[in-house]
Amino acid sequence: MGMMDGIDVLVSEVGPRDGLQSIKPVMPTAAKLAWIDALVEAGVREIEVGSFVPAHLLPQLADTPEVVRAVKAKHPGLHVAVLVPNAKGAEAAIAAGADKLTLPLSASETHSLKNLRRTHEQVFGEVARIVELLSALPAERRPQFEGAVSTAFGCTLEGEVPEAKVVALAERLIALGCDEVGLSDTSGYANPAQVRRLVKAVHAAIGPERMTGLHLHNTRGLGLANVVAGLDVGVTTFDSSQGGLGGCPFAPGASGNIVTEDLVFMLEAMGLRTGIDPEGLARARAVLAEALPGEPLYGFVPDAGLPLGFRRAA
Ligand code: ZN
Repeated sequence: MGMMDGIDVLVSEVGPRDGLQSIKPVMPTAAKLAWIDALVEAGVREIEVGSFVPAHLLPQLADTPEVVRAVKAKHPGLHVAVLVPNAKGAEAAIAAGADKLTLPLSASETHSLKNLRRTHEQVFGEVARIVELLSALPAERRPQFEGAVSTAFGCTLEGEVPEAKVVALAERLIALGCDEVGLSDTSGYANPAQVRRLVKAVHAAIGPERMTGLHLHNTRGLGLANVVAGLDVGVTTFDSSQGGLGGCPFAPGASGNIVTEDLVFMLEAMGLRTGIDPEGLARARAVLAEALPGEPLYGFVPDAGLPLGFRRAA
């Protein structure tokens, strides 16, 4: 089955990686697997389950290889995505059997130096090495490789990020051999007009089939408005996190990532099929809440409930 068979929009759940990453108490592996099981049960088709960074840097995600192996064995149809900061991480991700590798590249070089301790040229070097690793694999074992341009809509360190710069980085990633490019609003700076403009510019440069995904944040409350803007210009994959897990350190009370429950409700209510059952998401949320006692979970739909007479898109 293709990833998009029978659905209009792919909701890619990033809670187990992006969400958990900022949470101190380490969630036991068994609890992560139970949560992922419940998400799959709800109909989620793609989940970013972890990050291949050195374990001492990120104890919360130290069990990523184990999680990837366990999830692949149990849910062969699930698209298992992971973050890889470099070629070493990519090698480990390939060995574990991940289906999709995402390498973050910060559009702001200041942010790149601070976050990955690498210049753009150094990141491009890693991209080239990863492409080499992937080309050596037989096609059926080759994971999808995405270059994710973060701080694409603005940076907390540099402020405005020129659109031409984002376009040039996207072109370079494709030229080096990435299968696709994603755009991330890491700082929660994006607005809908900007989303339309930048996606169109990137589509014009590398082709719409090479840029299908947006990673948007809700830091300033524009997350879902930005999703609608993305839909308007043909984006079909959106990242979100159950319960907006991870929150936003800059805006207490606000989720960082878009809340999966709210996103799925909006899309289904708009007549766009996600393949995800909101009731199933509620069950997965209960599993998550039990595993992370005291951790705030966000979302309007979980608080207010589904509207009377709500029907999923058919
Ligand atoms: Zn995020």
